Amino acid sequence: MTASPSALAAWIRSLPKAETHLHLEGSTPRELLLEVFPELPREDPPFWQPDFRYTSFAQFEGLYVHELMPFYTSAERYHAAARVMLERCAEQGCRYVETSIHLPGISFSRLDGPEVLAAIRSAAPPGLELRGVGGLAHNDYAEHGRLIEAALDWDGLDGLDLHGPEYLPVEPWTADVWARARAAGKFTKAHAGEFMPASFVAWVVDHLGVRRVEHGVRSIEDPRVVQKLVDLGVTLDVCPISNVKLAVEGITSMATHPIRRLHDAGVKVTVSTDDTYFFGNTLEDEYLALHAELGFSPKELVGLVRNGLDAALLSDAAKAPLYAELEDKAAAFPG
Ligand SMILES: [Zn+2]
Repeated sequence: MTASPSALAAWIRSLPKAETHLHLEGSTPRELLLEVFPELPREDPPFWQPDFRYTSFAQFEGLYVHELMPFYTSAERYHAAARVMLERCAEQGCRYVETSIHLPGISFSRLDGPEVLAAIRSAAPPGLELRGVGGLAHNDYAEHGRLIEAALDWDGLDGLDLHGPEYLPVEPWTADVWARARAAGKFTKAHAGEFMPASFVAWVVDHLGVRRVEHGVRSIEDPRVVQKLVDLGVTLDVCPISNVKLAVEGITSMATHPIRRLHDAGVKVTVSTDDTYFFGNTLEDEYLALHAELGFSPKELVGLVRNGLDAALLSDAAKAPLYAELEDKAAAFPG
């Protein structure tokens, strides 16, 4: 079956999708930044070009710290950014978004955590389910331990995510906090296997007890780790365009991205955009790239969408109509 590019794109947008790996600050709408910081260049940033490659994670992190974090000085700014970001997700056919915010950013700006989370949650448009997860770097506890402990009791916080520079040692507090977060009814996940090798993916599964890993793509380097993910039913929330632009080890182009091999090995993978400010990408771009560069068939694309719904932090009753709609829309493939 073949479909015209525009018909294929429209069909992909029509599928009820989940974004399970999306950083709010990293997806700050550029037009909001330009309103607040008029000295920024008006033209589109170079990193939105498809052939752009970051030279290091430090380059990416520098932009994050100096260009994006200064925007977040009030709960209203979090709300404004979330509102535009989520409207764009809805335009892409998203019905579920799991967004993370960097929890220490709340301390830096002297804001109230529950107020910030309420501001973000109230930004979700009708028909889009939003979950808010707190992101922590490997070394955040010394400076932000009180905030982290308090966050375990915030009703508006759905979970924790380990993120930031992956090469930093994971400090001993992490496993205990992750276990106590789960005991408090929070969901836990972790970034791994983006800049560190497969062994770190195995480590977060074994020691942090997570069953959702953000990226995890370097698992492909060790068949034993791939098998562990399959055996334990671990889901990888993969962001292919992010991985290509950040030049993750072994990924020189979309055609070399290991999502194809991970999928074919039986690993459950989902597709998300990670940080749209830094990559200029949409969810539609991600699915189209998998189809064009890695040969994912329409049926396989539907399977990836289904994996995202499986991973969503929603009740079975809330998921049932989404699965039914997915089957209907899948059958309407225009090819
Ligand atoms: Zn991420």
